[in-house]
This record gives sequence, structure tokens and C-alpha cells, in this order.
Amino acid sequence: MTAADPLVDFSGVKKNYGTFEAVKTLDLTIGRGEFVAIMGPSGCGKTTTLRMLAGLENPTAGTIRIDGQVMNDVPVHERDTPLVWQSLALFPFLNVVENVEFGLKMRGVEAKERRDRAMLWLDRMGLKGFETRPVDALSGGQRQRVALARSLVTEPQMLLLDEPLSALDAHLVIRMQGVLTKLQKELGITFVYVTHSQSEAFAMADRVVIMGQGEIAQIGTPQEIFRAPNNRFVAEFVGRNNILEGTVSGGIITIDGAEYPLPGAADGPAEIVVAADRMEIHATVSDAAAIPAEFVSEEFAGTGIICYFEGPDGEELKAQVNETQLAALAPEPGQTFWLSWLPDAAHVMAG
Ligand code: ADP
Ligand code: MG
Repeated sequence: MTAADPLVDFSGVKKNYGTFEAVKTLDLTIGRGEFVAIMGPSGCGKTTTLRMLAGLENPTAGTIRIDGQVMNDVPVHERDTPLVWQSLALFPFLNVVENVEFGLKMRGVEAKERRDRAMLWLDRMGLKGFETRPVDALSGGQRQRVALARSLVTEPQMLLLDEPLSALDAHLVIRMQGVLTKLQKELGITFVYVTHSQSEAFAMADRVVIMGQGEIAQIGTPQEIFRAPNNRFVAEFVGRNNILEGTVSGGIITIDGAEYPLPGAADGPAEIVVAADRMEIHATVSDAAAIPAEFVSEEFAGTGIICYFEGPDGEELKAQVNETQLAALAPEPGQTFWLSWLPDAAHVMAG
């Protein structure tokens, strides 16, 4: 997928540390004004990718362009790509407003103008009245907002964020997500946001890039990634998906001996995904073909309850229900149920 008005372009970018390939081959375009999240498990190369964009690491191969200009050899201080991360250091010997002013001071902006601009940003970040506080007298959330103000005061065209909320309490994370999305929309600047957290990526980003082991596994809107994962890695990483293997013939897929309609699918072996919230649980064999599965356990998960089952081949199956449905089913561990889904709930994986 290519962005309409590209600001950033990674083309064949690789990063090796010795013989270790931290980033294998990265081709990615990020549009001007886009909020892109790069999401993946720990160690998959997210930070390395972001640091290359910030100019803190040199690519081993390939080209990184910003606004059409090749950036590979442009040093960090000549770039306009501030990076905010989890435990980013505010200067402990400067107070709040002095921290925010710092970038402007470095650029030679005169005292009155830089104080005015810093105050404007403190106001915007809800930190009016905190300007003369020492930074160690702030809460985690306040410190993070000072850090954002310090990065944004120079009005960069893009902000890079590396797990900026991972040290905050859960309720603050939700609040900061709101602050960040609002800020990004109001300013119209490009955000490249690295996280291992699905909820953060899906809540904020226009597009999500899923990385696994130094490579892009899928790029799409949160909804595309969630409803139509391309491959097993994405389906498992995104979670709460049932992955079923079967054989398709004439618009029917046979799984564990039972037949399900799968209109439009090509003949041959196939892997399909059925999200847990599209999986139906029956206490008795219904008319529809269904997979017999033994109930294992249930898990309360914010939006509903996930029931876990063991299928005929020992595979894990999951179905999401609400509390009323759970009470009606009253499942006991070891009890057999039948799981089925409507044809339009099945997504055939391409990869
Ligand atoms: P992520 O941010 O996705 O957790 P990183 O980009 O930090 O992953 O790291 C990707 C891989 O590269 C990891 O296996 C990490 O150990 C390795 N790595 C990162 N930086 C270095 C380095 N300076 N030297 C050697 N290996 C590194
Ligand atoms: Mg990282």
C-alpha cells in the first residue's frame, strides 16, 4: 500500500548488527499527516527502524527518503525528526518551561519569543501553572506531556514515538492516547508510533504496520488487520482468532470431516480465520455442521468473556460471549460443545 502524499520512504532498507539481521528488508511509505503505528513483538526490529528514521542508526543497505531527499548520511542534528521514548530524559537541572524552550534556544531563537512559544505549548498540553516546577516534582503523565511539548515546540513535520506510554499506569495510558490522537489531528503532522501494544496501535493509528523478526508481516488499517489477517503470524499476534486448516472444493471447506460453505474460495488446502466474537457455541449438535470441542476455561476480557475449548486434534479454539450467554451455557470443564460460524465470518488467509 502506498500513501497518497508520501513524506517518508523506506526502500530496501536493511540493518545488520554484525551478522545478525535486525531489519531484513523494509519497504514502507508513510504519508504526510498520517498516524502510522509500527507494532510487533519485542525484538522484531521496531526501535531499530525508528532509530534509522531519526538518524541515530545508519542503514546497512537501502535508502531512506524524507520529502524526497535521501537521508542516509544526514546527521541527527541536521534532521527535523524528534524522537520521544518511554523514559526519555528531561533535563533535571532545568524547570518545566526551560525544558520546553531548550530546542528553540539551540536554534538561536531569542529569549522572549522562545518563552512565548514554550508557554503556548505548555498551555496546549494542559500544563499551564507548572512552568517553574522542577521536572522531578511532576507525575509520570505530566513528565510525558512536558516531553511532548519539548519535542513539538520546534514544529517538526514529523514526530517519532517509541513506546512512549509503556511506563504509565493503565488509566493514564488511555488518557494520553486521547491527548496524542487529538494533538496529531489538530497539528496535522506525521506520527510514527512504535509499540508492542495492540490496543495502543489500534486505538490511535490510521495504518498499522505489523512487524515480525525484522520484516513487515502486514500493513493495513486497524480493521483490515483485525478482520483480515494475511498470514498465521498476524492472526496469532493480533489474538482472539481461531485459525483452522482445511481443504476447499467447490466453495465448501472441509475441516475435521465437517463441511462449511466458503463461497468464492479457490480449491485446494486453505487456512481460514474466524474471530472469537464470530464463533458460536451450541450445547447440542445443531443443524449446521459444527466442530465438537471440549470446554477448558473462561477468561474475562474487558469487552466480553472468552471461552477456551480444545478441538478434535487438540487445537485451541476460542469463542467470545457476554455474561448472559455464559450463564445460559454454564459450561463445565471437559463438557463437549459444538462450535460453528456463519459463512461471512470466515476469512481465507492469503499468505
Ligand atoms: P524492538 O524495538 O522491536 O523490541 P529492536 O529494534 O530494539 O527491537 O531490536 C531488534 C533486534 O536487534 C533485537 O534482537 C536486538 O537484540 C538487536 N539489537 C538492537 N540493537 C542492537 C545493537 N546495538 N547491537 C546488537 N544487536 C542489537
Ligand atoms: Mg523497542
